[in-house]
Amino acid sequence: MASYSFKGGIYLPNPYPVKDSEVRQVAPPKRVILPLKQRFEDEAQPYVKIGEKVLTGQIIAKTISKHSSYLHASISGVISAIKKYPIPHPSGIEVMCIVIDSDGKDEWIEIQRYNQDFQHYSPEKLIQRIREAGIVGMGGAGFPTHAKINNAQGAHTLIINATECEPGIMCDDALMQHYPREIIRGVEVLLHACGAKQAVIAIEDDKQEALHSLLMYNFNDHIDIVQIPTKYTSGAEKILIKTLFDIEISSGKFASDYGVLCQNVGTVKAIYDAIIDNKPLISRIVTITGSAVQEPRNYEARIGTSFASLVAKSYPNPAPHQIRIGGMMMGIDVANMHYAVYKTTNCMFVNNVVPTPAVQSCIRCGQCNQVCPINLLPQQLFWYAKSKNTNRALDYNLGDCIECRCCDVVCPSHIPLTQYFSFAKALHRKRTIEQQKIDTARERFEFKEFRVKRNKKERAEMMARKKAQLKQEMAQDASKKTKIAQAIARVKNKRDSKDENGV
Ligand code: SF4
Ligand code: SF4
Repeated sequence: MASYSFKGGIYLPNPYPVKDSEVRQVAPPKRVILPLKQRFEDEAQPYVKIGEKVLTGQIIAKTISKHSSYLHASISGVISAIKKYPIPHPSGIEVMCIVIDSDGKDEWIEIQRYNQDFQHYSPEKLIQRIREAGIVGMGGAGFPTHAKINNAQGAHTLIINATECEPGIMCDDALMQHYPREIIRGVEVLLHACGAKQAVIAIEDDKQEALHSLLMYNFNDHIDIVQIPTKYTSGAEKILIKTLFDIEISSGKFASDYGVLCQNVGTVKAIYDAIIDNKPLISRIVTITGSAVQEPRNYEARIGTSFASLVAKSYPNPAPHQIRIGGMMMGIDVANMHYAVYKTTNCMFVNNVVPTPAVQSCIRCGQCNQVCPINLLPQQLFWYAKSKNTNRALDYNLGDCIECRCCDVVCPSHIPLTQYFSFAKALHRKRTIEQQKIDTARERFEFKEFRVKRNKKERAEMMARKKAQLKQEMAQDASKKTKIAQAIARVKNKRDSKDENGV
């Protein structure tokens, strides 16, 4: 088996490994809160009314936007509210959610078995089915899967990202150990849907059980399973593609621009469920871990289950906690557990509160430069970000920073470098928007000036034309008057001469 690696990154131990690979099935909760918008999606529109009874698996929100997906009831019961709830986001924003109160029956819609021989179906039909099943990227990105497959039509290679994004997240490892047959079959569906001839499942070398589970079920010559080092940030899409195929995705470009489709292994399992079992996405595996829980574990929970009820199953201590969702490195801190599991919720860290070390001055050790997996110069970027010189920071490819925090981890001065980079990017976006507004206002002003001058000139020309015309008419008038006077004089002369001659 070939060995793959990449420059930079860091080896991080799993701080709180799960005790076993078991995935605990969580009973359907009494209430679920389901957002109409996943991470980057447009909002779907409710397809139910308050008071309506719904069955598990029933469509409760639809959309015509290609950047959004359908939403399904994850329990049976009654729609008790359609209103805004906060979602786990640093800004604390709220989005419209559908709330279902359980009837305690978990009564499913009638599932019609789809023809398991998916090869008979066109890629368009499969993509449509994936869309109707409400599948989004389950690695955390949340991009609608049907849109991603559509964008990659004609891809030559399919990559299945079976790396956990970062240490501590263990949901994909458990998924591969429990559902290897479904994953291999899901990869076959995806190959047919995107048209690629070859698929590569990339798995970290510390996941031997998962590797062997997949190998046992893979009889397809078009699917390779490769091991990559358990090094953070091997799971970042661009880095994974570079590691496997030495393809460098340029700034501003996507994998699909290079004929590659990359999908998370959890998404592949959801595709299997949708196409082979005809079941929509209504549950997912979530890792609950951290220094404050007694039993770090993987749970399969219905979408919309409350964080608090899930964390309680891992026995958190009663002390105050620091809560981080999506991973210790690239996740986000949230104030409390008043949120619900979404399609993208892969992990929740519940940690004891520890004081953050004091930030000191940069000692120019250069360690941050060595670990950057994108080959950036974090030390240099830091100076420009700190002085708000975003143009110079962009010259040093600030835009390519994936905010992986490798540089933060190794910095002996504890400088929160990634925060500076994130701030500088936001500042650049703000300045760009302001500059666009200024440019638009200037263009409007300049056009107004031009219009006023043009109107003035046109008016002056028109007046001059009219004046000339009037003058000409007056001149013509004068010559007419002269001719009439001459005619009158001639008549008068004639008459006078007749009188004199006594005629
Ligand atoms: S956060 Fe950005 S600069 Fe720092 S190591 Fe990661 S990619 Fe490089
Ligand atoms: S690791 Fe920290 S102290 Fe060292 S050069 Fe980078 S920013 Fe400076």
